[in-house]
Amino acid sequence: MNLPWAEPYRIKTIEPIRRSTRAERESWIGSAKYNLFNLRSEQVYVDLITDSGTGAMSSAQWAEMMLGDESYAGATSYYKLKETIETVFGFPYFLPTHQGRAAENVLFSAMIGSGPESGKGLIIPGNSHFDTTKGHIEFRGAHAVDCTIDEAFDTQVEHPFKGNVDLKKLDAALSRKDVKAPLCLVTITCNSSGGQPVSMANLREVSALCRQYKVPVFFDSARFAENAYFIKTRESGYADKSIPAIVKEMFSYADGCTMSSKKDGIVNIGGFIGFRSQEAWRKASTFNIMFEGFNTYGGMAGRDMGALSVGLREACELDYLESRVGQVAYLGQRLTDYGIAVQRPYGGHAIFVDAKKFLPKVPKEEFQAQTLGVELYLEAGVRGVEIGALLADRDPDTHENRYPALELLRLAIPRRVYTNAHMDYVAAALANVKERADGIRRGYRVAWEAPIMRHFTVELTPAK
Ligand SMILES: *Cc1c(COP(=O)(O)O)cnc(C)c1O
Repeated sequence: MNLPWAEPYRIKTIEPIRRSTRAERESWIGSAKYNLFNLRSEQVYVDLITDSGTGAMSSAQWAEMMLGDESYAGATSYYKLKETIETVFGFPYFLPTHQGRAAENVLFSAMIGSGPESGKGLIIPGNSHFDTTKGHIEFRGAHAVDCTIDEAFDTQVEHPFKGNVDLKKLDAALSRKDVKAPLCLVTITCNSSGGQPVSMANLREVSALCRQYKVPVFFDSARFAENAYFIKTRESGYADKSIPAIVKEMFSYADGCTMSSKKDGIVNIGGFIGFRSQEAWRKASTFNIMFEGFNTYGGMAGRDMGALSVGLREACELDYLESRVGQVAYLGQRLTDYGIAVQRPYGGHAIFVDAKKFLPKVPKEEFQAQTLGVELYLEAGVRGVEIGALLADRDPDTHENRYPALELLRLAIPRRVYTNAHMDYVAAALANVKERADGIRRGYRVAWEAPIMRHFTVELTPAK
């Protein structure tokens, strides 16, 4: 018999978590204005709000923390990270930042401009942009153009690389005469379309097309290692290649990258920008010094740079990726067994529950995915996050609500944190909600919202 995967680590330290009663949760979620971001973490039993910064570090990473060099300039920890980034990604230049959105801020300040009008007439094409990425683009008056393949927008279509860029859509965007593209941004894996990977062939083709238009390609690479694992297991010609070799080839098609290290870096905070060109690095470093810190720390403590230099290499270990992606698929399979529609195939870091199929009676104007998120919390103290109309914000020009093709409840799994018993608990909780789904007919109305990125801080009231 083939042996199943099992975690390539054992547990040395535990952190207690506690279950609560339904009455407690009803009171807490009301005080939180039905926004799961407003809950205290002690009010949550299994926290799947994000896989960002929530991973468990290894003993090797903790050891590296003690070796952290906190020198302002030229710290040893900076050079450890520099060497790792050059080895893993092949980028000779990089800037540390305090997290991924800071990397976006610095890079876009250099490439789009830093004022609210500086992006007028500019577009940033790519696959579905991450929310903070879109926020940084729109804040500058530029537009994010989503060129993801159509298959990504149907949760039930089986396509191995739903993060792929549609080359026809990209060509149409790049050939427009009324707007210019200062860069193309490919998100790997594509978070907003369900943690779906981009194939090597697609990365190669995007790179070639952009080169014709002389547009640089950057990868938003928070989950680069999970993407590499999917290339190895799903794309022909890569089964026998090592993860580090696949990662190297992926990034050979990019001029640079932004990275939130809180995901596949397996650290709690941190980020960076990688560059192939010294000139681009120099231009961005002025903004890095202004917004983040001097080039050899840029918003990160020395110890965090050290832990990241270890985490990036650990993330490329095949045994780790097998158990990581395997656990996500385990949850996906449990939900599928209960007849719950989730994004197929299963993504790399999260399972995305199709809320339109789960709660068909709730009108889209009352936020189906958010409603499902609140119901799951009430049921069992499990916290997911809405990827739907609240996240999509209003159109910056018309101020109308934007209703995306998909209303998803994302259950993001922190790295090396929960066991499959926790996954069983989550799946059973959602199955219980499904049993009473027919009676859930109303959702929520917005009582207060911020002008952009409203989903973090929105206040809701039950619709009546
Ligand atoms: C998390 C993330 C970001 C933003 O990074 P932060 O570290 O949260 O600021 C950008 N892009 C993608 C794809 C991400 O997943």
